[in-house]
Amino acid sequence: MLHIFNSLTGKKEPFEPINPPFVGMYVCGPTVYNHVHLGNARTFMSFDVVFRYLRYLDFKVRYVRNITDVGHLENDADEGEDKISKRARIEQLEPMEIVQQYTVGFHNIMAQFNALPPSIEPSATGHIVEQIQMVQDILNNGWAYESNGSVYFDVKKYIDAGHDYGKLSGRNVDELFSGTRALDGQSEKRNPMDFALWKKASSEHIMRWPSPWGDGFPGWHLECSVMSTKYLGDAFDIHGGGMDLKFPHHECEVAQCNAAHGTDAVNVWMHANMLTLNGKRMSKSTGNTLLPQEIFSGENPFLSKPYHPMVLRFFMLQAHYRSTLDISDAALLAAEKGYNRLHEALGMLSDLPTSASSTIDVDHWGERFAAAMNDDFNTPVLIAELFDAVKEIHRIKSGEAAISSDDLQRFDTLLADYVYSVLGLQPQSEKNSNDSLEKLDAALQVLIHLRNQARADKNWALSDDIRDQLMEKGIVLKDGKDGTTYTIQS
Ligand code: AMP
Ligand code: ZN
Repeated sequence: MLHIFNSLTGKKEPFEPINPPFVGMYVCGPTVYNHVHLGNARTFMSFDVVFRYLRYLDFKVRYVRNITDVGHLENDADEGEDKISKRARIEQLEPMEIVQQYTVGFHNIMAQFNALPPSIEPSATGHIVEQIQMVQDILNNGWAYESNGSVYFDVKKYIDAGHDYGKLSGRNVDELFSGTRALDGQSEKRNPMDFALWKKASSEHIMRWPSPWGDGFPGWHLECSVMSTKYLGDAFDIHGGGMDLKFPHHECEVAQCNAAHGTDAVNVWMHANMLTLNGKRMSKSTGNTLLPQEIFSGENPFLSKPYHPMVLRFFMLQAHYRSTLDISDAALLAAEKGYNRLHEALGMLSDLPTSASSTIDVDHWGERFAAAMNDDFNTPVLIAELFDAVKEIHRIKSGEAAISSDDLQRFDTLLADYVYSVLGLQPQSEKNSNDSLEKLDAALQVLIHLRNQARADKNWALSDDIRDQLMEKGIVLKDGKDGTTYTIQS
């Protein structure tokens, strides 16, 4: 049975969906004001494996991952400029141009990492009405107050009423209160720990919406409470995100849901650990980052060569999602070797000699792989088991072990399930892309042949149509004395 480490209880717990076979999972998505870095990608890949394994277990998963396109201010204390607005100002673009550009970039990178798209990808700006409604609910229930056109969550009142603010992040409330700097008398907040549900927009603030409290914009934590419960219900199974989001973001989400609906909303909280570079957390704000594109192209002095996205994926899956992982060129070189060795062995499967009976027990291998994943998605253990299977493949090849043809087929399916469906690895792409290019070339030769036939039949309408339609798709045909050739425009 699948066990998941629940950050709320600090324990691995058997996973029991609220409404099987359905599973609702919400993961905090990126703030799209800049390129996603490899650290962001690691967190999304960790949850991609969770999504994939739940599907492999035949759960019907609704995976919601949001796009933060408003409300995330430069620091966590409800101050500073909106990250998206700031970038828009610097680049002299509309905020929504920034959002579009980096959302497309994010999708593109995640596709290269072979991450499955979520079932729903809602954006904060697309849910302003629902966010205003939740602020209103929290106000009506008495857990928030309006101050100068902004609305703040009243943390002290919430705690005084017996709620355990800090239960998710493990923060001690007294320390929290003494650790935050005192209010300067100018503050709109009753208490420094209070957080914004709605912020009044200053006159120069361009991302603004009308609300019962005047023109403003939602607080960052609100969108996730709103969109998770809108699409998954007031009680849902899994909420994930990076470890750095535990406080204040997720702690505030718990408080908001309790204040609005009277429940925590989330059954299992999952937190993925950080990717580090030179021992320090990879982070957009400090500039200690590597971008996925730099790794795929090798254009970074940190790297001795380019690495394929699948090598990166393999590298990340060699660590457990709750452990930190430090990236280095040496570690990537080692991952590349391991990844190639695994694929070489999988490639040998179809040519293995078969015997009347097997010395290997395929079911037992299935149990070992499942045990690894059932233990809180333990991908490093699964990979170690897969390498044991690689040794077995080599033994079969050299005649030291035997496998029947039935078992070989089952073994092949089992390995493909775990390597491709669960871990989401793909065969090295050169072969893939060469195969696809060959197929594209063959298809174009068929079209050229048909067009030549149309010309021979003096069917100019058809021959022109073929040429024009291809041209529209960026494929230009050229008629020369040696026949027709084509070029593909990028
Ligand atoms: P952001 O775009 O900053 O809101 O971050 C998007 C996601 O990436 C969040 O879940 C963060 O927790 C996660 N994240 C940020 N930095 C790292 C890192 N160095 N390693 C792993 N995940 C990270
Ligand atoms: Zn969130």
